[in-house]
Amino acid sequence: MNTHSPRAGFTAPAKKQLGQHFLADAHYVEKIVLAVNPKPGERLVEIGPGQGAITFPLLRRHPQLTVIEFDRDLIAPLTAAAAPLGELSIVHRDVLQVDFTELAAGGRIRLVGNLPYNISSPILFHALDHAAAISDMTFMLQKEVVDRMAAAPGSKVYGRLSVMLQAWCEVTALFVVPPGAFRPPPKVDSAVVRLVPRDPATVGIIDPKHFADVVRAAFGQRRKTLRNALNGVVDEAGFAAAGVRSDARAEQLQVADFIALANATAA
Ligand code: SAM
Repeated sequence: MNTHSPRAGFTAPAKKQLGQHFLADAHYVEKIVLAVNPKPGERLVEIGPGQGAITFPLLRRHPQLTVIEFDRDLIAPLTAAAAPLGELSIVHRDVLQVDFTELAAGGRIRLVGNLPYNISSPILFHALDHAAAISDMTFMLQKEVVDRMAAAPGSKVYGRLSVMLQAWCEVTALFVVPPGAFRPPPKVDSAVVRLVPRDPATVGIIDPKHFADVVRAAFGQRRKTLRNALNGVVDEAGFAAAGVRSDARAEQLQVADFIALANATAA
């Protein structure tokens, strides 16, 4: 097996409640850094640097990096290990409380991270709220979540996450990472995914909150027909205006159909 040790600056015991599975295989670190491929002048922000497995190789290639880390025990060692490599700016906060738009300061940031799996969906929805301030995201997540993110209509795993993310972003699954690449190993396979937010003008969603409500209601009762699942949200006139059959089920609809349904019934 191709297992190398990355040149991490320090080690610390993993905290399960913070989803700490540290990447410990230089082959996959390199693949992630190549996938990010930072260019001069870009503003890179890493979520959850941990012991720096991705941070330090990125910092060697791109000498200015912002990281968001919640575990206070990691702040001092990260600061010390980064000092000879470049300028590491550490935001010691819960990432869900970080305003990415403010962090981008009028520009756009590139987000990177081997995410804490226990809050990966909330992080994705939080990023969607700030999509205009983000130029792209390269994230490692549970493979099962990446499968849902990238799923097409008709797939068993096509659902709310697929539609919400694909409406606002181009979603590309990049590669799988096995449990043995981490310390401690998680129970499941992981995968790296790239999300590129679309220009909101081309997305064409009139009322983002209503769109989110329609998608949530449609998949809330995914075995029911849309007529029943969307009762009180979309009426027959709305289905007709959107050109969507009310006897279809949510999993059969394209992302564009959900947008049409939401737009046809937006206030
Ligand atoms: N990037 C490192 C690596 O690949 O080895 C660590 C990845 S580990 C899966 C997730 C990291 O996110 C940990 O460092 C953990 O402390 C941090 N983390 C967990 N919850 C967080 C939160 N709410 N806000 C910011 N960081 C968090």
